[in-house]
Amino acid sequence: MAPKERIEELREKLNEYNRLYYVENTPAVSDRQFDEMLRELQELEQRYPEYYDVNSPTQRVGSDMTNRFEAVRHRYPMMSLANTYSLEELREFYDRVTKETGDTEFACELKFDGTAISLTYEEGRLVRAVTRGDGTMGDDVTANVRTIRSIPLVLSGDDWPRYFEMRGEIYMPRAVFAALNREKEEIGEQPFANPRNAAAGTLKLQNSSVVASRRLECFLYAMAGEGLPYESHWENLNKAREWGFRISDHMRLCRTWEEIIGFIDDADRLRPNLPYDTDGAVVKVDRYDLQRRLGSTAKAPRWAVAYKFKAEQALTRLVSVEFSV
Ligand code: NAD
Repeated sequence: MAPKERIEELREKLNEYNRLYYVENTPAVSDRQFDEMLRELQELEQRYPEYYDVNSPTQRVGSDMTNRFEAVRHRYPMMSLANTYSLEELREFYDRVTKETGDTEFACELKFDGTAISLTYEEGRLVRAVTRGDGTMGDDVTANVRTIRSIPLVLSGDDWPRYFEMRGEIYMPRAVFAALNREKEEIGEQPFANPRNAAAGTLKLQNSSVVASRRLECFLYAMAGEGLPYESHWENLNKAREWGFRISDHMRLCRTWEEIIGFIDDADRLRPNLPYDTDGAVVKVDRYDLQRRLGSTAKAPRWAVAYKFKAEQALTRLVSVEFSV
């Protein structure tokens, strides 16, 4: 197949997979398959820059927007993350960053497998909750988010900025997911493919009392705004914990490559025992001035990367469950 045709084919397929995943919450392929196709498209686009297209799935965040909610513009764009399944590529990221910034610290975190949310606080109160959408605009799901008990409606303390945003991941605990799917099967409804899809689908329901009954939870992993307490991501997250935000304890500030690998090993080992799904680890440059210096691409920051675990993804997990019973 000629490169142009293959590029077009990949774009068309990936756009459709994005729609099924983000809007319908019924993925047609595994994440690994999706990532491999996206990678192939990236490589073709690099080799044949004459086919560059600003609308290519390599250039845009897969959108979750529907017409059922009010669309709201993000004050600070919500980006994706560059991802890799290879430790060599993670090492390249580490080498590139340390070369550009000198000795630097990295915040290493779990990659929660849910759906991204941006929470706006004004005067210490939650005023808006918006999905990532296409990164620029998202769906206003405030009424649904207010039902999530791990999200504070009013903050503790009084040293928060007058206006700021917390970003995090809304997820469905595994036990809640299993019970929900059992219920769905009993009443003859199609079960959700995995907890991620169940969380994303639930967040977009029209009836907030059903959302409340689904017991979603949320981990916050970033702060955005002006006048934040510190110039360090790590310190701000610790501060956010004092204000009542749920911040994971499984985070580590690392300086050396060995420390980063140590975190990834621990995260991979911890994974089966956690009550929620994680699909990797995220390595982020800690200092904001260095983050700004490294900048971002159209789709993702250059100061962070997600290392994805190789183990089975959602679809294969479903299949293996079917085979084991
Ligand atoms: P992503 O899920 O790979 O990474 C970005 C997201 O990670 C963020 O938006 C955030 O929601 C989340 N995240 C979790 N923990 C985090 C933390 N500690 N810090 C920062 N962010 C954290 O990227 P994406 O753009 O949301 O989705 C693309 C990926 O989704 C693809 O690589 C693929 O794996 C999957 N996908 C699958 C299909 C499919 O059909 N199976 C379709 C589309 C996308």
